[in-house]
Amino acid sequence: MVDRADVVVVGAGILGLAAAFELAQSGLAVVVLEAEDAGGRHSTGRSAAYFIPMYESDAFTEFAAASLPFLQQPPGGFSDRPLLGREGAVIATSLADTTQLEGEMARARELGVEVEALDGAEVARLVPIARAERITGAAFYRGAGEIDIGALVAGFADGARRFGARIELGRGWTGTLTTAGRVIGVSTTRGEISCGHVVNAAGAWCERVGRASGAAAIPFTVTRRHVIQLRLPDHLAGRTWPFFRCPSVPLWCKPTGAALLASPMDEEVDEPGDCRIEPGQIEAVTRSVRDYTTLLGEPERAWAGHRVFSGTKVPVVGPDPTLSGFHWAAGLGGAGIMGSPAVGQRVRDGILASR
Ligand SMILES: Cc1cc2nc3c(=O)[nH]c(=O)nc-3n(C[C@H](O)[C@H](O)[C@H](O)COP(=O)(O)OP(=O)(O)OC[C@H]3O[C@@H](n4cnc5c(N)ncnc54)[C@H](O)[C@@H]3O)c2cc1C
Repeated sequence: MVDRADVVVVGAGILGLAAAFELAQSGLAVVVLEAEDAGGRHSTGRSAAYFIPMYESDAFTEFAAASLPFLQQPPGGFSDRPLLGREGAVIATSLADTTQLEGEMARARELGVEVEALDGAEVARLVPIARAERITGAAFYRGAGEIDIGALVAGFADGARRFGARIELGRGWTGTLTTAGRVIGVSTTRGEISCGHVVNAAGAWCERVGRASGAAAIPFTVTRRHVIQLRLPDHLAGRTWPFFRCPSVPLWCKPTGAALLASPMDEEVDEPGDCRIEPGQIEAVTRSVRDYTTLLGEPERAWAGHRVFSGTKVPVVGPDPTLSGFHWAAGLGGAGIMGSPAVGQRVRDGILASR
């Protein structure tokens, strides 16, 4: 019997699941292919899962803004827990020259993002481990907060299944079948599926999937980012405070239960695959935690994950310009968790408009 679907989604990371949820909810027959035998093995399972309304570029900021209504008020039955916290985020500088920070705050206000200026003492009041004397200024984004990544992933996956989508773990995409410039199916590690649309949500592998399909040759850069986990002292364990990012160090950190997560904000270019740890980065971030916070502990765990950017650092979302029936959900860099609801909606709109 021929296996058929309206849409095949390649990748069951957050972007593939968001697209599957929206498409299945719209009544389309959806199959999600995931090469790994479990979800969350790559970027989605390794992220910090934070919502920051002003993030790196206008394009990421725009995806965050477009996703906010969904994160604040998801559809009925999506999750029995809130998806978004209200902890806020402190973006600080340790430089004497605060021009860049002020420029970013001015841009945030132009974009309608609420932001307040803080001095070092105010930062230390909000972030109890910050060393105030090393901070020369900061921006406080009150609208930032922790995303419950477990609830968001489960909401998309369970919701997609409820609307009839099949999520097939351990079944890889191996090729896109086309005729006369349009998609007619895919080949997989377990046979072919006939379909009119393919969504490329393959994360670090998205450039390869696009090229092998004969879609537009869009270049992507895969970069690596490390995270360490340290134990918090008893009096701080279980407390919450804002995400703290200081690009001039560079360092970000945030509390999670009895631990602190911290990152050296590294971005070396890497290859798609299982993202490996580089010990030098672990030493660097451990030093920065000691220099810029009051914590002195050793990491008890460390990992690294991929952030994937298009050449222009603009997310690639929606119909391919050359191959009819091929759609992109890629290049969200460090904003794919917070931008996922908008990505799912735009992929859905692109497919519905082309049917
Ligand atoms: C350290 C770190 C911190 C981050 N912090 C944040 C944050 O605070 N907030 C935020 O919004 N974002 C954050 N991000 C970014 C976020 O994690 C990514 O943007 C997001 O997870 C990308 O999701 P994805 O679905 O594109 O990729 P992935 O989660 O990598 O999913 C892609 C999937 O495609 C599968 N696949 C690949 N090839 C095939 C194939 N041939 N067949 C079938 N399946 C295939 C892979 O196995 C994988 O499961 C962070 C990232 C990192 C690394």
